Amino acid sequence: AGTLHVVATPIGNLGDLSPRALEVLRAVDAICAEDTRHTRRLLAHFGIERPLLAVHEHNEGDIASKLVARLLAGESLALVSDAGTPLVSDPGFRFVRAAREAGIKVSPVPGPCAFVAALSVAGLASDRFVFEGFLPAKASARRERLASLAGESRTLVFYESSHRIEEALADCVAAFGSERPGVLARELTKLFETVLDGTLGEIRSAVEADENQRKGEFVLLVQGAGEDEDAKVAEGRRLYARLCEYLK
Ligand code: SAM
Repeated sequence: AGTLHVVATPIGNLGDLSPRALEVLRAVDAICAEDTRHTRRLLAHFGIERPLLAVHEHNEGDIASKLVARLLAGESLALVSDAGTPLVSDPGFRFVRAAREAGIKVSPVPGPCAFVAALSVAGLASDRFVFEGFLPAKASARRERLASLAGESRTLVFYESSHRIEEALADCVAAFGSERPGVLARELTKLFETVLDGTLGEIRSAVEADENQRKGEFVLLVQGAGEDEDAKVAEGRRLYARLCEYLK
């Protein structure tokens, strides 16, 4: 049987595609990509011509068994997403699971990942952290998620897009308090890379004051609640929020 290579691609700077990623992408029979047009541009930049197969969240469940059949027949495949590490807030886990269940070797080609990059420059405690990915789009669900995290003592890590960054910051201030320290990492490895640090209140003001700070892609990191007082205050805040919901 062939191997399924799970290949990380750049989160902005094309120089971050590793030599081994290039080697694997050149060698496989086909490349499974979240968005084939997007990946075709990346491959064209490196002069790689390999057949592309669309594997995204809408067809992954249906197509996984066909892809596994190709792997079992001896083909080797690569899985990439639009940016960074596949499966990290990206499609792929169903395909990987199906391949593993069929006894296929699944091998990583590690590389860029936005939250790891952000954590590596944030200067927040990084021995223990919680990756929360994208917050729910609906305001009520988002607030509930944040309220449930208010007493969390590990560093919190969120993904956010430009559409919702202001709402997300406002909701974080409400859930964690404006004095809680945080870091907002924007456009990492790209031309307008910015890493803002300060209290959540300060970060929110900075983003509100400058529309350029609302553009692009974001990783928001929030320091965990202090083990003693912070956690109690957070728990009080959480209960208060629940009570307000209840009384509505
Ligand atoms: N698989 C990717 C990874 O390994 O990080 C994440 C894919 S997810 C669909 C896209 C989100 O990742 C963006 O909305 C943003 O929160 C974050 N992201 C991706 N590239 C980024 C960058 N260059 N700077 C900051 N955040 C980024």
